[in-house]
Amino acid sequence: MSAEQSYDVIIIGGGPGGYPAAIRAAQLGMKVACIENRKRMGGTCLNIGCIPSKALLESSERFMAAKTEFTTHGIEFDGLRLNLANLLGHKDKVVSGLGDGIDYLFRKHKITRLLGTGSIAAPGQVEVAVADGARQTLLAKSIVIATGSEGATLPDVPIDEDRIASSTGALSFPEVPKHLVVIGAGYVGLELGSVWQRLGAEVTVVEYLDRITPGMDSELAQVLHKVLQHQGFEFRLSQKVTAARIEGDHVVLSVEPSSGGASEQLQADRVLVAVGRRPYTEGLGLEAIGVERDRKGFITVDAHWRTNVAGIYAIGDVIGGPMLAHKATEEGIALIEQLAGLPGHVNYDAIPAIVYTAPEAASVGQSEEALKEAGVNYKVGRFPFNANSRARAKAQTEGLAKVLADAETDRILGVHILGPEAGSLIHEAVVAMEFSGAADDIARTCHAHPTLPEALKEAAMDAGAWAIHIA
Ligand code: FAD
Repeated sequence: MSAEQSYDVIIIGGGPGGYPAAIRAAQLGMKVACIENRKRMGGTCLNIGCIPSKALLESSERFMAAKTEFTTHGIEFDGLRLNLANLLGHKDKVVSGLGDGIDYLFRKHKITRLLGTGSIAAPGQVEVAVADGARQTLLAKSIVIATGSEGATLPDVPIDEDRIASSTGALSFPEVPKHLVVIGAGYVGLELGSVWQRLGAEVTVVEYLDRITPGMDSELAQVLHKVLQHQGFEFRLSQKVTAARIEGDHVVLSVEPSSGGASEQLQADRVLVAVGRRPYTEGLGLEAIGVERDRKGFITVDAHWRTNVAGIYAIGDVIGGPMLAHKATEEGIALIEQLAGLPGHVNYDAIPAIVYTAPEAASVGQSEEALKEAGVNYKVGRFPFNANSRARAKAQTEGLAKVLADAETDRILGVHILGPEAGSLIHEAVVAMEFSGAADDIARTCHAHPTLPEALKEAAMDAGAWAIHIA
């Protein structure tokens, strides 16, 4: 085999796990190739996930603001209407622009980008099948699996990406549904449900559990539930969809209590199936080389992202944990740094998670339930946005900031924010937690006035029972 086909690292998958890892490897002087089977790099996140969904959320939030909030600020106008084609066009432009950006970075770093499907023939040996059926064999000292995940499905709910869509179809509905049924009240269902609800759809969310956003601090989840209900969402909690069939231009769903019981029929003109994601390892050849996976199909790795087969590593959604783009990125970069002999590290206690509804819900660290269950002696500070002057000026006063800290040491254990720009505000808490900060560290840090972050400062002050603007 020629030297050209031999690499220090080959990465299979060019999502937010794989492509930054490839760039970091190049920065550190490694010879690196990245195999990606989509034409555009960026994986699920850029093509059909984080980015297109946030573009739609931004646009639909502006439409909603024009419809309902501008009058509060004394702005009145006539003739507001939606141009869905332009709204979808903006999303597509954002995605393709960012995709071009990754291609540019790959060229700049002289990374070999292979368009095709990668499989592992043997440790140190990767095969690439390209579109015309040709195969290429490459050698590598290290192989990184970063193949991500795919949407989970329900047995009798056949997805056609038109009437019954996964999140991918729901990013491009050709018209605003009159009635959209969302199956699953996790963040994907609530975000995309919000998009279409703001654009005019009646939205019903059917959720198997008795609460929305499983895993989120339940106090915040309850407030979010109420806020979304107030916006017009209908929630059917503790219910399950057992079947769905397309009848002409609508869908008939069979819904029954999660614990079983009488089934009723629900009619919708479109359905979004958002019931979680599962690891994607198809065609990689893992069985043949003996790479271990867990019961749910996630590749098992140790603390250094090593699989049980020497020289083969895995990162991102395919290994489970929080299935988030930034978690995949951190892992990919830390792994590459370790391969280069540097002390790469990921602090799993400080990974933020955000639900981009309006208001946003953002969390880092432990929920109150998790602390209770673990028997931790904690204290809690809260501050409502309706007591924050900037939130009042914005007329966005729903929600609260909540700080959980160790009762004895004051170390921050979790921060949960539901409110305007919560997804940005949470990062102050993430940094504080990275530095093992105490609630009092945030409380005694000078925050500019009048700003939204003052709500977090006051929640931290409240953890010490000395918040100023609280009744
Ligand atoms: P992926 O992004 O899935 O990338 C893996 C890539 O590998 C894919 O492009 C795949 O086609 C390719 N591939 C697979 N097998 C092969 C093979 N054998 N050969 C070559 N290529 C292969 N996360 C957030 O953090 N924030 C958000 O706001 C957010 N919003 C989301 C919204 C939606 C609608 C969805 C569906 C997901 C969202 N996510 C979000 C989750 C996020 O997209 C994933 O956590 C992230 O993309 C995982 O990155 P990854 O690199 O592990 O895998």
